Amino acid sequence: MSQVLIVTGGSRGIGAAVARLGARAGYAVCVNYRRDRAAAEAVVADIEATGGRAIALAADIAVEDEVVSLFRQVDEALGRVTALVNNAGILERHARVEDMDAARLARVFAANVTGSFLCAREAVRRMSTRRGGPGGAIVNVSSRAARLGSPGEYVDYAASKAAVDTLTIGLAREVADAGIRVNAVSPGVIYTDIHASGGEPGRVDRVKDAVPMKRGGQPEEVARAILWLLSDEASYVTGANLDVSGGR
Ligand code: NAD
Repeated sequence: MSQVLIVTGGSRGIGAAVARLGARAGYAVCVNYRRDRAAAEAVVADIEATGGRAIALAADIAVEDEVVSLFRQVDEALGRVTALVNNAGILERHARVEDMDAARLARVFAANVTGSFLCAREAVRRMSTRRGGPGGAIVNVSSRAARLGSPGEYVDYAASKAAVDTLTIGLAREVADAGIRVNAVSPGVIYTDIHASGGEPGRVDRVKDAVPMKRGGQPEEVARAILWLLSDEASYVTGANLDVSGGR
């Protein structure tokens, strides 16, 4: 039986790197995307060109019905999920707290927290050995921002990632005896398009001197840590949160 990996927000950035590396590690991969079908299909085409198996499926992970449908489509197309990477996340334009409103917080928490929660729930329902499943592994993509707080830029995003950290610990303990490991990675500053949504496309180069290793990270460097946490190499690791931040 093949291992099946779902990567949320897998059409670009860290998610696309996870999808490609996951396929190389032997997973059949679902590349979830919200809007950019062409980019998701390009990732699938890359994977197929190297002999791997992948499909692209649309779903807004903040919407419960869409998440339920996503996992059902994966059941049919690839088989029962054994690995989930909760990678999809959003960052809104840099702002100070006095200029943020409830609608912004709702959007950020819906994508980053509710989305991760709903996907984890669907995965646990299928993986749990208590329900006849084969077990599995989940990795949540958090952020160093959860502990830095991101003052003056995006305290809302930082707080949402702190919620992801707590969700990781709670889920890990809840399903530890059901054959499921749940871990997180906390990237520092990584070269992806998320910084453009924050209104600062050149952010990584601006802040890289504050990184002890004096450089930003590449999406593949985060993806390798994620693939390790998913793999049997990490068979006794659960509830952990691995910084991939150049020492930040
Ligand atoms: P990115 O913006 O390139 O990728 C994020 C992806 O998530 C996009 O494809 C986006 O469409 C998708 N997405 C967002 N909301 C979604 C939704 N509701 N449903 C489905 N897909 C959705 O950025 P990235 O840097 O590759 O981000 C990946 C993860 O890494 C995010 O969770 C982000 O918070 C985290 N992260 C990134 C950095 C960094 O410096 N790049 C640092 C720390 C954490």
